[in-house]
Amino acid sequence: MATQKNPTAARLARLRKDAAKGFEKLSPADRKEILAARRQYRNGNLPKDMLSLVGLPLPVAGQPHSSVTVIDAMGNDSSIVQAARVSYGIGTKKISEDRALIRYLLRHRHTTPFEMCDIKLRIACPIFVARQWLRHRTASVNEYSGRYSEMMDLRYVPPVDALKAQSQTNKQGRGGELSTGAKKVAGNAIELIGDEAQLTYENLLGKRDGLFEPGSPGLTRELSRIVLPLNTYTIFYWKTNLHNLMHFLKLRADPHAQEEIRNLAEVIELALAAWLPTTFEAYMDYLKEGAMLSRMEVEAVNRKLAGEPVAAETVGMSKREWSDFVARFPAFKAV
Ligand SMILES: Cc1cc2nc3c(=O)[nH]c(=O)nc-3n(C[C@H](O)[C@H](O)[C@H](O)COP(=O)(O)OP(=O)(O)OC[C@H]3O[C@@H](n4cnc5c(N)ncnc54)[C@H](O)[C@@H]3O)c2cc1C
Repeated sequence: MATQKNPTAARLARLRKDAAKGFEKLSPADRKEILAARRQYRNGNLPKDMLSLVGLPLPVAGQPHSSVTVIDAMGNDSSIVQAARVSYGIGTKKISEDRALIRYLLRHRHTTPFEMCDIKLRIACPIFVARQWLRHRTASVNEYSGRYSEMMDLRYVPPVDALKAQSQTNKQGRGGELSTGAKKVAGNAIELIGDEAQLTYENLLGKRDGLFEPGSPGLTRELSRIVLPLNTYTIFYWKTNLHNLMHFLKLRADPHAQEEIRNLAEVIELALAAWLPTTFEAYMDYLKEGAMLSRMEVEAVNRKLAGEPVAAETVGMSKREWSDFVARFPAFKAV
């Protein structure tokens, strides 16, 4: 990985430190399990940076009960190169050439070489986040069963900074500030409704006296859980390949994604940086921070470079297309 001047390296170092602190707070049984999982990797092909993350529940900003745990990973940057070079039968070459090949493959949207690496994560998050997450169909999932086990008495209450008004420009997002009083009321209401729902859940299960006649069995777990709100926690294992992982991250570590899922996706991005540093660099350059241009956008750029006036109508863009374009290329704002 790069030096400490690299902001990703600094964030990764901080994440590792926070995870190590969290590890100390775990029960002896949990610590034993983690250490056993990490021993498996001693002779594996994962980079040292990645090995030091495996098995540790990585903390998530603003969500004290959420975590991302790398359970397993297969392959490294060389696996991608090796698979791509099978076409030419010339074997692995120098590192610099490997880097150039990975960048070429991603730049030209090749897919299968990136499917040669797999990752399995354990995600702990609120149900409303899992619901967005599971829209990504190209992964294998196993989720905690609320029929088999009792639901966890854990709920997400947004930190004060996250409590915002509905955005006036983005129908899907948050925007304006709320007053301090309104934030307090909203936070309290979310907390209160969760506590009440949990109480009802436990009553329905028959764990508390009062709802049913003495001696009556409680309601089954699979039905009792339906009173719980969407901020209740769930856990799932999520296994996907690198191609699909980058597609997920491109969509969910993006400012358009809801902050809560984005916070988890950003932790996975750091794990990606530790696992496949060269691919991560290419992902940042071509997918995350790169841009794909439409025919009209290409025309707008060419016209501007030729010194011609350019506006939405001259290149046939709608108002919405133009504002999306200008948001990505502010130099066109004043035109
Ligand atoms: C900011 C944001 C807002 C969103 N808002 C909404 C919303 O309001 N309502 C809503 O319902 N969803 C919403 N979504 C979910 C979104 O529409 C996608 O369902 C989700 O992001 C998964 O993307 P995907 O299908 O590309 O990924 P995956 O399911 O992982 O699929 C990856 C790729 O595989 C291919 N593929 C997979 N399955 C099929 C298939 N059956 N047929 C053809 N090709 C397939 C496609 O090329 C696809 O891009 C939102 C997503 C984001 C990021």
